[in-house]
Amino acid sequence: MAAETEFSIIERYFAPLAHPRGSLKVEQGPGDDCGVVTLTKGASLCFSIDTMVEGIHFPEDAAPGKIAYRALAAAMSDLAAMGATPLFFTVALTLPKADPEWLAGFSAGLKILVEKYRFPLLGGDTTKGPLTISIQVHGELMQRGLLRSGAQPNDIIAVSGTLGDAGAALSVLESSSDAQYELDESERYLLGRYYFPTPRIELGRSLLGCASACIDISDGLLSEAGHIAEASSVGLYIDSYALPLSAHLKAFKGESMARKLALSSGDDYELLFTVPPEKWNELLSRCSDINISPIGRVKPGSGVYLDNADARVFQRGFQHFA
Ligand code: ADP
Ligand code: MG
Repeated sequence: MAAETEFSIIERYFAPLAHPRGSLKVEQGPGDDCGVVTLTKGASLCFSIDTMVEGIHFPEDAAPGKIAYRALAAAMSDLAAMGATPLFFTVALTLPKADPEWLAGFSAGLKILVEKYRFPLLGGDTTKGPLTISIQVHGELMQRGLLRSGAQPNDIIAVSGTLGDAGAALSVLESSSDAQYELDESERYLLGRYYFPTPRIELGRSLLGCASACIDISDGLLSEAGHIAEASSVGLYIDSYALPLSAHLKAFKGESMARKLALSSGDDYELLFTVPPEKWNELLSRCSDINISPIGRVKPGSGVYLDNADARVFQRGFQHFA
């Protein structure tokens, strides 16, 4: 194949992802100075950008389709946490070289979510340099979004799915860098949870009007709970024995380590939210197809407390410049 240029890369691997456009009115996709979409009156635009750097956010030899899927799913998770409906996204890609096989894999990884959510790629930037992926997602809100700041004393604290799986995958990644190492079923499951997180878009939308506060768990439960506690000026009391753990995580790490990971490891992209008790049953009936676990209560005060202990938990999530 002839060497790719910046323009052939865009044409071949990214412009085709502009098509499935759902209800969005696209006036101009990739190819002009800007993309253009028609805005609906009364709707709010909700947007967020995330960057992933090779060697920091994903291993150096990771397959391009996995990197792409995970970067887009992680960015979409922020829309989910606001209760927003995905509209479109843009990608700024910095690449050391234009390898057609790599680019085809990367484009195919994005395509899975583009098609599943009818979420088109409407623009971006392509440059040469160390592998870095920035994705800006845009979503729509027809009502007030889910903020971190609305939790009230007596609200139920809940999480979706299971926690700790992606954190455990990091130790699978370490041992599997040895080519002789054969993965068992649990290890494969955990790696799948790391590379293919589910952005909880449908859940986020169902939480609108029900949840009082919401955040996605990218940096670990305790750290995210701390953000809700601070933004809402309340205390979050969490029961670590109520945390949802997958059977594969327990098989791989044992129950006690599994619980530790569920409390503090990141990358699961589940939602952590608070719900007034009178809305709890309505919430469960709206979300019957997803596992929701109550894990504690909001009380007056500040900070995060574990297992009814008097001592406040000090937990910091991953911080780049710490
Ligand atoms: P400009 O110089 O005006 O910024 P570019 O040459 O960077 O334009 O990009 C040309 C067009 O291709 C733009 O519409 C841009 O949005 C789009 N584009 C560039 N890179 C990507 C990418 N990785 N994915 C999708 N669209 C892209
Ligand atoms: Mg440009």
